[in-house]
Amino acid sequence: MEAILYQTTSNNAVKCAMCAHRCVIPEGKRGICGVRENQMESQ
Ligand code: SF4
Repeated sequence: MEAILYQTTSNNAVKCAMCAHRCVIPEGKRGICGVRENQMESQ
């Protein structure tokens, strides 16, 4: 499922905008909440 409220950045990181933390999540990692994971659709 494609997540909403994020922006892709360089190096396949995503910037999550779901809450005030505004995590920048590297590929394969999770945000502070531990729920949002940067998982590319093609993998
Ligand atoms: S804590 Fe979770 S919901 Fe909030 S910005 Fe980070 S990854 Fe997104």
